Amino acid sequence: MTPQVPRNELCPFCAEPIPPDQASKDHVFGEAFGGRVKVPCCRSCNSTIGHDIEGPLHSPNSLLALACAAAGLAGKPLRGQYRDESTPVNVHWAEGGAVPRDPKVRVQEKDGTLSVEVGGTEEQVRNVWRGLTKKYGSSIPSVDEALANATRTSDPSPWVEIALTNQLPLLHKFAAKVALSGGAAIWGKRFIATEFADALRKILRAPEDAYQPDAPKCDLKYLSTVASDARQVAPVDLPELVLPIPGPGALPTSQVVFGALPGEAEPRTGIFVTILNFPAPPYGILVPGEVPENPTLPVVLREKLGEQAVTLKLDEIYFGAIASLSDEV
Ligand SMILES: [Zn+2]
Repeated sequence: MTPQVPRNELCPFCAEPIPPDQASKDHVFGEAFGGRVKVPCCRSCNSTIGHDIEGPLHSPNSLLALACAAAGLAGKPLRGQYRDESTPVNVHWAEGGAVPRDPKVRVQEKDGTLSVEVGGTEEQVRNVWRGLTKKYGSSIPSVDEALANATRTSDPSPWVEIALTNQLPLLHKFAAKVALSGGAAIWGKRFIATEFADALRKILRAPEDAYQPDAPKCDLKYLSTVASDARQVAPVDLPELVLPIPGPGALPTSQVVFGALPGEAEPRTGIFVTILNFPAPPYGILVPGEVPENPTLPVVLREKLGEQAVTLKLDEIYFGAIASLSDEV
């Protein structure tokens, strides 16, 4: 299905009309995460969010970089250290574990003696050797001769130490950002102008030191509440909510779920964001207020890598949402 993205006229991030010379488009789930659905926004808001929130999440050694690497997706290199080496190297995932991303090359000319040391996969060594042969000619052995005498390990090392950073305050803002542009993609202007969207913008603009690690986040258990509540209201059978399960064979999927939390004096909506089967539970934030229409029904905006988005046409969102809850993941 081709995404039917409404014309918003308003930017989801500042709620102001978009000046024609400032028109830009934001990827709901982030282009670097494989996202394709886009919504109109101002260029300056887009670049601020890209710079302040999305950029750092793609920095090397973030938990998301590990998730991308483990899912075989392109991403920033992970910097790690093999147990038997002292120098940190960039590693990537290949069959059999983490391998150095770049070959190690050391060339020394001392007292008329040339010593060459190359480490890496066979392909990497052959490539480097080609360059060395051009430079040093027959003063170094042929690559086959060198490989015949090389020390080989079938697995560079099963142990790579990687210091990971998990940027929770940023993840919190990122969830608010995905919800803002996801809501804009689903409901358009009617969403952007609500107090609910205002509450999301407040999270987006909060200084990072205002983040409280123990502030209430939307608990995963609410996801099943959201599903069972919808089952009572929905005129169709709603199957059990299926969460993306990380691991081999899992489909790279990104999704945002909006669901009303029942039994609250003041209406609150739980928002869960999952990015490309990030190997952690969906990140949930709790927002005062409710979505513009039929707030008791959960709305899911989901997109799969390499496929177009689902659940976007306004007159289809509710049943589309229910249907996509039952998608096999
Ligand atoms: Zn804006």
